[in-house]
Amino acid sequence: MEISLDVPFVLGVLAEEQQLAQREIRELGVVQAYENSRLRHDARIAAAPDVSTLACRAGCTWCCHFSVDIRGVEVFTILDFVERSLPAEEKARIFSEVRANSTALKGLDDMERMRHNVKCPFLSAGRCSIYEARPQTCRNYHATDVAGCQQSFEDPDNLEIDPEFAPMVYQAGAAHVDAFTRAMREAGYDTNVYEMNTALDTALSEPDARKRFEQKRRPFKKLAGDAVSGEFEDLAG
Ligand code: SF4
Repeated sequence: MEISLDVPFVLGVLAEEQQLAQREIRELGVVQAYENSRLRHDARIAAAPDVSTLACRAGCTWCCHFSVDIRGVEVFTILDFVERSLPAEEKARIFSEVRANSTALKGLDDMERMRHNVKCPFLSAGRCSIYEARPQTCRNYHATDVAGCQQSFEDPDNLEIDPEFAPMVYQAGAAHVDAFTRAMREAGYDTNVYEMNTALDTALSEPDARKRFEQKRRPFKKLAGDAVSGEFEDLAG
């Protein structure tokens, strides 16, 4: 779907969020700064002028059957959330599904992953069990027509399916993520992108991963991750 970019709007989000994120990373640490940024992220999307066109509703889960890309800071905040908020048996179920998904996705390249349905380990009884801590990718994923999401789920090999989305919601969410990522990168933290199940599985098996991340080192010994350009990398300096 082609959209016309609202450059002043995107530049405004980039400047505002980057400035706030830089200050909070410095004063509160990267994990707390990210948790604060998540709240602003949701607020920005809720305030987008076309938010009322979204078809996304609680209980609709077509998009929760694909692998998700996340950054290190998200890995550690999700694990924190699971630890403090979910009962032991749910935690055990989640970690078992994380391991199974990680094994199923092992060795697949990005295109093969996109063609492979995988139920998210956090999807439970039609709900996201980590909704408050869900990844940025999930926060940004949205559609204005459920049919496209259902088609993608039913025909994962067909990468031509492109669910309709809301242009201003997309720009607000993507600019927000770009800005926080830039602030993290400038502060020296790892901003590489990892497949969620693989990264969670690796974090669980490498107890010093979080310490390495907070020391501004590469968090995972066994995973390199991908350096991914921001949506609006070519805008603003
Ligand atoms: S983390 Fe939550 S919103 Fe994201 S794919 Fe999993 S269940 Fe769905």
